[in-house]
Amino acid sequence: MAEALETYDITVVGGGPAGMFAGFYAGLRNAKTQIIESLSELGGQVAALYPEKTILDVGGYPQIKGRELVSRLEEQLKTVDTEVKLNTTVQNVRQVGDEFEIETSTGKSMTKAIIIATGVGAFNPRKLAVDNSDEFEGKNLFYSVKNLEHFKNREVLVAGGGDSAIDEALLLESVASQVYLLHRRDNFRAMEHSVDMLNESTVEPVTPFLIHSLSQEGDRVKVEAKRMKSDEEKTMVVDDIVVNYGFIAQDDALAGWEVHPDGQRGKIHSGMNGTTNVKNVFTIGDVAEYEDKQPLIATGFGEAPMAVNAAMKSIYPDRRGPVHSTSMKR
Ligand SMILES: Cc1cc2nc3c(=O)[nH]c(=O)nc-3n(C[C@H](O)[C@H](O)[C@H](O)COP(=O)(O)OP(=O)(O)OC[C@H]3O[C@@H](n4cnc5c(N)ncnc54)[C@H](O)[C@@H]3O)c2cc1C
Repeated sequence: MAEALETYDITVVGGGPAGMFAGFYAGLRNAKTQIIESLSELGGQVAALYPEKTILDVGGYPQIKGRELVSRLEEQLKTVDTEVKLNTTVQNVRQVGDEFEIETSTGKSMTKAIIIATGVGAFNPRKLAVDNSDEFEGKNLFYSVKNLEHFKNREVLVAGGGDSAIDEALLLESVASQVYLLHRRDNFRAMEHSVDMLNESTVEPVTPFLIHSLSQEGDRVKVEAKRMKSDEEKTMVVDDIVVNYGFIAQDDALAGWEVHPDGQRGKIHSGMNGTTNVKNVFTIGDVAEYEDKQPLIATGFGEAPMAVNAAMKSIYPDRRGPVHSTSMKR
């Protein structure tokens, strides 16, 4: 006879900030819970894309580095019994009676409820559209600041005009000898607070220019840029270039799942409390979509307990609902 599969109350798919907090909160509710994460570390976009960035908009932290926020979430998660399975991708979900069979790259399990927190799925940076950019990648050309020390006393050109580009320019200003911020428009599309900080900083804007070629100049890189709507050329020689043109996300993290809640363009339609059109399948964080959704860490933190409580109410209707954390902890 086939061996019985382990059954969980709640399976959280995705270990970004939203999934981590959901896993913790489910533990507080004494739900037998697993978090399944494709990558080798928890933290989702925060750990993978901007560990060095200072985050300003998470409640309780006037400012906190991405890396530090993930480590606080890990610390909090360790206070409950939630299991974490890293390097494991959910490849299929099948309905079996009232429950679900979860098939992953490393094995199978059963679950009564699922919380999908797959964020933007697999993500890759939008690359600099210059033919030979690959030759510079990892040496003088970077798509995120993973190791701030590398940029110490160096001249750095940041390319991009959104919040993340400005955040990176300001972060680099703290160690680099000079930071330039090159953008193809005259205005930066970023939060007013970030633009104010940029105006007060030593970061030198280079606008409206677009990079069209790179060449090696000793250990440094020669950047040639063209002024928008003009033939004016600008040549700069810098130690490093950090490009922040945003990210291209995988279309559908749920591709191949037999249980596939409704959604479009890789997002899942979310009702009240993260409900989807499939009973006991919930969604939170960046992947969950509803009108005027703001894809922020704080949003995912708010959605997580609502989905966990809705899942618990659905699978254990006779259990008393939550009051607040101190009354839930054993
Ligand atoms: C450069 C940048 C700067 C940002 N700055 C801020 C900021 O200052 N403040 C703020 O609030 N927000 C910021 N954000 C947005 C914030 O990072 C996201 O809102 C947040 O990470 C969403 O969390 P999440 O848990 O929903 O998804 P994610 O962080 O995307 O995590 C989802 C996880 O699911 C995993 N996964 C996907 N598919 C599967 C599968 N099939 N099986 C197993 N695992 C899977 C992925 O590997 C990933 O780890 C920023 C984003 C970027 C890109």
